[in-house]
Amino acid sequence: MTQDTLTMTIGGKAASSANSLDVCNPATGQVFATVPDAGAAELEAAITAARSAFPAWRDTAWADRAAIVNRIGETIAANAAELAAMLTREQGKPAEQAQFEVMAAAQWCQATATLTLPDREIEAGPGRRQVTRYVPIGVVAGISPWNFPVVLSIWKIAPALLAGNTLVLKPSPFTPMTVLRIGELVRDFVPAGVLNMITGGDALGPLMTAHPGFDKVSFTGSTATGRRVMASAAPTLKRLTLELGGNDAAIVMPDVNVPETAERLFWSAFTNSGQVCVATKRAYVHSDIYDAFRDELVKLAEAVPMGDGSQQGTALGPIQNKPQYDRVRGLLADCKANGYQLLQGDAPEGEGFFVPVTLVDNPPEDSRIVREEQFGPILPLLRFSDVEEVIAKANSSDMGLAGTVWSADTEAAMRIAEQMDTGNVWINEGLALSPFAAFSGRKQSGVGVENGIEGLMTYVEPKTFLVSH
Ligand code: NAD
Repeated sequence: MTQDTLTMTIGGKAASSANSLDVCNPATGQVFATVPDAGAAELEAAITAARSAFPAWRDTAWADRAAIVNRIGETIAANAAELAAMLTREQGKPAEQAQFEVMAAAQWCQATATLTLPDREIEAGPGRRQVTRYVPIGVVAGISPWNFPVVLSIWKIAPALLAGNTLVLKPSPFTPMTVLRIGELVRDFVPAGVLNMITGGDALGPLMTAHPGFDKVSFTGSTATGRRVMASAAPTLKRLTLELGGNDAAIVMPDVNVPETAERLFWSAFTNSGQVCVATKRAYVHSDIYDAFRDELVKLAEAVPMGDGSQQGTALGPIQNKPQYDRVRGLLADCKANGYQLLQGDAPEGEGFFVPVTLVDNPPEDSRIVREEQFGPILPLLRFSDVEEVIAKANSSDMGLAGTVWSADTEAAMRIAEQMDTGNVWINEGLALSPFAAFSGRKQSGVGVENGIEGLMTYVEPKTFLVSH
């Protein structure tokens, strides 16, 4: 596959660029494709296309816009096999999980398309009528990460378009292909300029966030980059959605069924090889069951097949890219240097970016593996005995994305959940997201909301009319 076979979408047409970007398969460490590397000229063209498409799209009936968003979902579902294979190759995730992500993206489009934001009548006294209408913001810049490139791009595309905005979307340079392909597949029915897809290297994101042609930036990525995005959006006071990092705590109470809960928590931590914003990143386990729980997790770590995602039977893939691979290995090296006990599964040898599933046995609370977001298949297990103390520890983070509580007593678990300072708390499950439920981060995990009516509201602004009769 070469740059000639995948194109950007600008103004409803295929677009290329003078330069190109290499795409690497993380399971082999080898470059296997190139995509366009857009610069200032291509960005300008995309913004111009989005700006000129905006008035007509804003004035298109809600139901007609919903029909197009729905059709994007249908198109993704109809092409799921092709898209999933491409996603496995560029992202590394196992085929089944790539298929799951692609189908989730389709479902998200179709679910989002059912949402509405009706006008709100507000009492204004005799002889007067007052109404608040939710109007689109304008041209949106969407910037997505490499861990779930398809679904996290759709989380921006579906609500932005439904609400009447036009969009320029940039996927991560590490995973540009599947998103570009979706742009190609929907080009013939999404009105020209409404949805533009561009790819480029490290320079392109900052060019976008600083550009006065955008009215809003919707960004998903790391907290460090989120701070830069916010600073860069300040001169033109762009509207912002920032979905950032997490350091999600799990609190495991002593009354759980140990093998069942260990298995659920294992997948809450290690799905996508730990590269999930809402993965369990610190597990606090009650001391009464700590040893038994750790031993169950170790059994699972030793049994889970890790390898090339395109091979049948693979349950966990590689780390998605070399810089992240180096970061995760740096955290492992730090654990080793400090003498923490590591309990590990197997990982393939070779050029791929594989890190074995690793449990860190009760490291200190102030260790790097507990304080930092690992975003890889390493999980610190921490022993606790006092509930108030463990809630304080769970909350003693700059992050506040999600968290989990595991207990047979769901009412007691709910009381713990209420005290966790995060946007989502799941009881006896992990990674439970819905197109209809608000998703947001507290503290430095983000600004704004995605999904549900609350997420849709971040793509509109209220405009209030008053008529005196
Ligand atoms: P990243 O911040 O490195 O990159 C995200 C995107 O921003 C990419 O498209 C990148 O090209 C672009 N970018 C990089 N520098 C930029 C800049 N200065 N200005 C504008 N854009 C720029 O993040 P990543 O490594 O791709 O993703 C991993 C991180 O994302 C983790 O911290 C994870 O927790 C977080 N994440 C959060 C959510 C959520 O919904 N809260 C979801 C997935 C991932």
